[in-house]
Amino acid sequence: MADEKKKLGFKKIAATRMMKQVMANHFYDLDAAAKSGAPKVAWCTSVGPAELLRAMGFLVYFPENHGAMLGATRTAMGYISQANAAGYSPDICSYLTSDVGAFLKGETPISKAYDGITEVPKPDVLVYNTNQCRDVKDWFMWYGRRLGVPCIGVESFCNVDEVTETHVKTISAQIKNLVPTLEAVSGEKFDIDKLKEAVRLSRRCSELWEETLKTSAATPSPFTFFDAVIHMGPAVVARGTQEAVDYYEHLLSELKQRITDGVGAVEGERFRLYWEGMPVWGKLRDLSTLFLDQQTCVVASTYCNSWIFAAFDPDNPFDSMARAYTELFIVRSDRAKEDYIGRMIECYDVDGIIFHDAKTCPNNSNCRYGMHRRVTEDKGVPHVVINGDLNDLRLYSEEQTVTQLEAFIEQLGGR
Ligand code: SF4
Repeated sequence: MADEKKKLGFKKIAATRMMKQVMANHFYDLDAAAKSGAPKVAWCTSVGPAELLRAMGFLVYFPENHGAMLGATRTAMGYISQANAAGYSPDICSYLTSDVGAFLKGETPISKAYDGITEVPKPDVLVYNTNQCRDVKDWFMWYGRRLGVPCIGVESFCNVDEVTETHVKTISAQIKNLVPTLEAVSGEKFDIDKLKEAVRLSRRCSELWEETLKTSAATPSPFTFFDAVIHMGPAVVARGTQEAVDYYEHLLSELKQRITDGVGAVEGERFRLYWEGMPVWGKLRDLSTLFLDQQTCVVASTYCNSWIFAAFDPDNPFDSMARAYTELFIVRSDRAKEDYIGRMIECYDVDGIIFHDAKTCPNNSNCRYGMHRRVTEDKGVPHVVINGDLNDLRLYSEEQTVTQLEAFIEQLGGR
């Protein structure tokens, strides 16, 4: 058994080097802009109207990406109490509380990762979309008050069943209404051709990211959920740029080669799972090791799929952005979400589903109103629910989760 285990190991993805460079460029460019005052810096929620901001000459920073860094570096818990002391409950989004707490303490993992950067890039404007949750608006408003910069955004729909023209026109009008404030802050006149180009690049990035994720439909899968949450960085922070497009062309060709060569990310893949809900950022390595040891591949997730924006159309930029940012899983009704998970089960030939109940993110935890049971009954695919959190590891029990996951995989073997 010891010899067998020795053979199992993480398969390094060669494109990681290029991905790290894309991320480094992102942070160094932002740092230089914030220090010099040009170009202007916009902070944007992760599924906010980033294309409009790029078209208007802003460099775009995503606080949720920073929240994920705080989680992955396991530094979040040292900051959450600072935000609690400022009046933000330990029960709300731990991205928010760890990010605000880190700001209050004047610390950031960016400074440890990138020499010469000492702080997060100060914003000239904050732009949110409440399509994912209300927390992002509260989060950005806090910075708006603290730093004295404009905080504007889009008030989205929630629990959307079918996305209709009424939804699209309402959100599209709100995105257009952002333009005058953005012109005033950036000093640039809005140019529709620049917006079309940003939407074109975002669409291309989205297509490549989707194709990248879909390589995991192959058996064995060349890519795991734990790879994807790392390699999605450019799709989050650099969508709308040529750099992101170049990166995913590169990554995709490597994964296609793995498929051609029959190389699986998990040696001797026995089972294929779907991850529903937020990652547990501080436990990525431990969980991926557990699945590797169990010869089980987590092949796909709702989370990584959330940066696929199929509706983007450069010829109709405002309406297509409105549609893309409303069609997202997190915005939709339970019925639409269950249909979507059903399609993913088929596409990725999934044996089981892990529902992560992230205590501080009810918005992206879908096992509180019976969905996990309905999916199992309707699709015949078993599930397990694990309790945890995206960033606050005090809400995660290692022992309990490992026991549950091992038992679940054993149960799959019995089927
Ligand atoms: S969706 Fe969840 S994790 Fe993301 S910002 Fe909202 S509450 Fe936080």
